[in-house]
Amino acid sequence: MVATFGRRFALSLDDGATAAARVKGRTMHPVCGDRVEAVPLPNEPDWLITRLLPRANELTRPNLRGGIEVLAANLDALVVVTADFPATDWFITDRYLCAAELMGATAAVAFNKIDLGAIEPASEQALEEYDAIGYATLRCSAGRNVNMDALFDFLAGRRAILVGQSGVGKSSLINRLVRDSVLPTAAVSKARREGRHTTANSVLLSLPNGGAVIDSPGVRDYAPAIADPAGVGRGFREVHDAAAACRFANCRHRREPGCEVKARVADGRISARRYESYKRLLANTERLARR
Ligand code: GDP
Repeated sequence: MVATFGRRFALSLDDGATAAARVKGRTMHPVCGDRVEAVPLPNEPDWLITRLLPRANELTRPNLRGGIEVLAANLDALVVVTADFPATDWFITDRYLCAAELMGATAAVAFNKIDLGAIEPASEQALEEYDAIGYATLRCSAGRNVNMDALFDFLAGRRAILVGQSGVGKSSLINRLVRDSVLPTAAVSKARREGRHTTANSVLLSLPNGGAVIDSPGVRDYAPAIADPAGVGRGFREVHDAAAACRFANCRHRREPGCEVKARVADGRISARRYESYKRLLANTERLARR
């Protein structure tokens, strides 16, 4: 599945060709990155998607009806794009990283628009904290084509999604990455034209280094859909590491005695901002779980 526009799709076929497609009925919800079975329709250019194959992983968020919305599937990597203009909400960045952790996807934080001057101290600190816990961080400018190699190299051989607040430069980064290498195929254009009345659309673009990147619509806020609040701790790798040494196996790292996470926050080994982020997402997830 290389593109979705509402109920219109574009498929990459086994022979490398691209085809426009639709699904039968309303129960199947393919997303970008999905593998599907499809058959050509007689006397029509469209293919019909008949089956969704099992997913290796899903990038999710809760929807307004108490269910789960899948944004993309079968991802190796996730890149959170950040910037100082508009100012980054680092809590949202943490929630994307949490999602990547739970999906088993490799995550990186790209700080864009470095051409606009010195990086804000709070942003620099956040980037250093991510570095310290093992996330790849890179500073670049899509506008001025600075350090784009680092992003391109990170994506090599991986299927990734670029996420982040609207306006940070995701589309500009993708345009820079795919310039001269990928043109929208007729099938993508057709799906886009016929699905133009919907705002939700995503496109998977192949890169010449064997990577692929999903361009998805920006979301104003983000939190992963986590059914069991205990999952939140697994999504913060430094919290998860410390949790093994907590007195209680089911420690949620709030007021429990003998909590190794709190001890590490107190002596600075865990970032106070990341810990706050963990507690906010935990409270949020507990609230949703009670509904
Ligand atoms: P998106 O909403 O995350 O896809 O962001 P866009 O790619 O649409 O970019 C939002 C705005 O930021 C546009 O006006 C871009 O021209 C601008 N922009 C993107 N990258 C850079 C950059 O590296 N430097 C500067 N100065 N502006 C940029």
